Amino acid sequence: MISTQRIARVAGYGMTQAADAYVYRPTCVEEINKIFDEARTAGRKVTLRGAGRSYGDGNIGSETLLIDITRMNRILSWDASTGIIDCQSGVTIENLWRFCLEDGYWPPVVTGTMYPTLGGALGMNVHGKNNYCQGTMGEHVIDMDVLFPNGELKTLTKDDDLFYAVISSAGLLGVITRVKLQMHHVASGNVDVWAEAAQNWDEQFALFEKYEHNSDYMVSWVDCFAKGAKAGRGQFHGAWYKDREDLASRVAEKQDLPALILGFFPKSLVWKVLKLVCNRPGMRFLNAAKQFASSTIGNNKMHDQSLVAFSFLLDYVPDWRKAYEPGGFIQYQTFIPKEHAKAVFAEQVRLQQEYKLESFLGVLKRHRPDKFLFSHAVDGYSMALDFKVTAKNRVRLWELAHKMNDLTLKHSGRFYFAKDSTLRPEDAAEYLGEGLPKFRKLKSKLDPEGLLVSDLGRRLKLS
Ligand SMILES: Cc1cc2nc3c(=O)[nH]c(=O)nc-3n(C[C@H](O)[C@H](O)[C@H](O)COP(=O)(O)OP(=O)(O)OC[C@H]3O[C@@H](n4cnc5c(N)ncnc54)[C@H](O)[C@@H]3O)c2cc1C
Repeated sequence: MISTQRIARVAGYGMTQAADAYVYRPTCVEEINKIFDEARTAGRKVTLRGAGRSYGDGNIGSETLLIDITRMNRILSWDASTGIIDCQSGVTIENLWRFCLEDGYWPPVVTGTMYPTLGGALGMNVHGKNNYCQGTMGEHVIDMDVLFPNGELKTLTKDDDLFYAVISSAGLLGVITRVKLQMHHVASGNVDVWAEAAQNWDEQFALFEKYEHNSDYMVSWVDCFAKGAKAGRGQFHGAWYKDREDLASRVAEKQDLPALILGFFPKSLVWKVLKLVCNRPGMRFLNAAKQFASSTIGNNKMHDQSLVAFSFLLDYVPDWRKAYEPGGFIQYQTFIPKEHAKAVFAEQVRLQQEYKLESFLGVLKRHRPDKFLFSHAVDGYSMALDFKVTAKNRVRLWELAHKMNDLTLKHSGRFYFAKDSTLRPEDAAEYLGEGLPKFRKLKSKLDPEGLLVSDLGRRLKLS
């Protein structure tokens, strides 16, 4: 009998999709096995959740037994001479850098926030601003333990086909319980960062092309309100690791983000200010102001920045997502082959303007393809977009997203489950191609009772 005291409301990070589930927080493999048994006895399904940083419905499951992996957060071994770390899958990106930086190591791939767990990061196979040169998180895993719903615990390496299926399968094949990861050596805790304003789409792409063979990170912001000759304007950042040994900059406390913004304003209050401008006119103004600042202050200059400040910009503003309350927001990210990227992104932005539903934040990244089963990457670019959701705009926003989906599919683009709320089953089937039947075959073998589900898997009819 499952205790009703376990029932809790869980939501995707965008707060637009939520579910009531029976929440369990296991600390070891044996406890996870027991949860599978309980689900069988009760005739219920199981959903996996890490830190809940996926925006949509990949980490929630209505009326399921939800395994929250965050208490499995022990570091099992660390070898500072090789940079190899072995840990339980609830260890977060933050835990990794705090533990290893002093010895001169940084996670090989980090997301725009430091809070994801390794299990969740591998469930989606996350990428960073260095995807074009370092690939995804999965590419840096040496081996990992996976518990399948049939009770089998397997250690998988890159020699196993299953390795490439479990990583990226959005928690639908097995539970990653332990991960051995190769960390990246850094001499300094700081990076050299180059900032350059782009005045239109052509300049944006020219900057990525200029630096793609000789940089460690690249990312660019896009003003989705700009039109005509100014469409696509924004600010590009490239970054380079430093060669000179600098122990002082590697002390974790030196990396901590400041509690005050501009030296006087408590960052814990910033979301309240953001909420005041979290509307079309406010965001049009903020984007224009940012473009003005980008084109003047610090433009075409190299500056020194801590790895944490450069990597986790969004963590500067605690609770920033509350600015989008009460309706929440969706994140939308498509990955387009390089030959079509400029035209597709320009059209996506034009469509947003036609619908008067411009994304409040646009971010461009460069990617490379990988061999994971549900890979999202291509040899090309992605544009990530944040859309505020309200009761009034919801239907039109989904209509806009479906138009952008069609455009993506027409140009052999791909989508990303960590950022998805709007895909239809036929969209997923089309971009996943032969990956979907392969997944279904594996699913029927490893999880014949179909115990592992998520609301995303149900929405997209993956199983
Ligand atoms: C501010 C912000 C910035 C972001 N920036 C980026 C970015 O730059 N690049 C990027 O790629 N993503 C980015 N993301 C998305 C985020 O990194 C991914 O959604 C990541 O998967 C979140 O990890 P999590 O621990 O929160 O997992 P959750 O969101 O809780 O779960 C993710 C998936 O993994 C599955 N899962 C969880 N634990 C396990 C396990 N132990 N074994 C198997 N499957 C499991 C879940 O079922 C789910 O499908 C960002 C998110 C936010 C909020």
